Amino acid sequence: MERAHDMTYLDYNATVPIRAASAEAVRSTLEIAGNASSVHRFGRTVRRVIEDAREQVAALVGAQPSGVIFTSGGTEANNLALGGAARPRIAAGSTEHPSVLRARPGVETVRVDRNGVIDLDDLRHRLASDAKPAIVSIMLANNETGVIHPVRETAEIARTFGALVHCDAVQAAGRIAIDMGRLGVDMISLSAHKLGGPPGVGALVLADGVEIAPLLLGGGQERRLRAGTENAPGIAGFGAAAADARGETLSAGALSALRDEMEHRLSAATPDARIYGASVQRLPNTTCISMPGVASETQIMALDLEGYAVSAGSACSSGKVEASHVLLAMGVAEAEARTAIRISLGWRTTRAEITNFVEAWTRLYRRLGLPSIVSAA
Ligand code: PLP
Repeated sequence: MERAHDMTYLDYNATVPIRAASAEAVRSTLEIAGNASSVHRFGRTVRRVIEDAREQVAALVGAQPSGVIFTSGGTEANNLALGGAARPRIAAGSTEHPSVLRARPGVETVRVDRNGVIDLDDLRHRLASDAKPAIVSIMLANNETGVIHPVRETAEIARTFGALVHCDAVQAAGRIAIDMGRLGVDMISLSAHKLGGPPGVGALVLADGVEIAPLLLGGGQERRLRAGTENAPGIAGFGAAAADARGETLSAGALSALRDEMEHRLSAATPDARIYGASVQRLPNTTCISMPGVASETQIMALDLEGYAVSAGSACSSGKVEASHVLLAMGVAEAEARTAIRISLGWRTTRAEITNFVEAWTRLYRRLGLPSIVSAA
């Protein structure tokens, strides 16, 4: 990650700076020559590294190591869950990540309320309206707003209709404690780079007895559920990051206190700014906020020049900023959604950085914000 010019990184939901233990695990595994499928000692050493990481990743979500299938990331895990489980229907929350919404053609979307929380009546109604076997896919926490969904209640409803339940926990893992059994879901998706591991590695975690078919065909790796030589260095880095991050969820209170303080000061400086999902349970590190009258791209570029890395809620792979489908699903007007940015904090964020960021935001608002609001402020 770029640390040059004293940049302050406030984009942890896009990717988390790699943890020292993770970088070291990647490096040391790269130095082992073996392929985990080889029976000689080199191969066995790599196999051991992968199995240790499997235990660390399983522990992060309270699952059995045998349920962990390593993938190339959260996107592949979501595709594998929804494409590999043979169910003709998928019902997913309307604020899900594109890797869920586009995992298969014809994904049906379930409404969210104005705070971004899944509408359980709409889910019930949808499941009752068609008897075909379904998968319900619900994220634990939203990547743009941090809003936490009632996954357990969602799973209970889904079960009464015989549906399988998949949970995209990519943003929640490492930020809040996760227990797969308590959530009552069949499958959980994870991604290493969202918790301080390397990009390009993730996992789909299956509960006991859940059966899916592979998407990638070839060798028998990952219990025949994901063909291809394992990315052992990435997997080792994932395991180390999972172990580190698991410890940190215990101190999430400090992070949310810092985030809350930031929000309080941003709201005081810019009373018209709206914080999305503020009245419901959210991740401890995420703020999605609008700056009335200032386009997201303008804010991002201006804040970048001031030394702060934040993103538009919908920072997307094409590089083009579109109005966030998450905010639109929450009933936010398109013009307002185009003024929202996401600020996401993490293990390296300091109070001084937040103080300086609030000042930079306030200066920007005074310079570019809606004239009527600025003069009233
Ligand atoms: N799901 C959510 C909620 C995400 O935020 C992301 C990444 O932005 C993904 C899935 C995809 O993960 P990956 O980048 O590992 O493919």
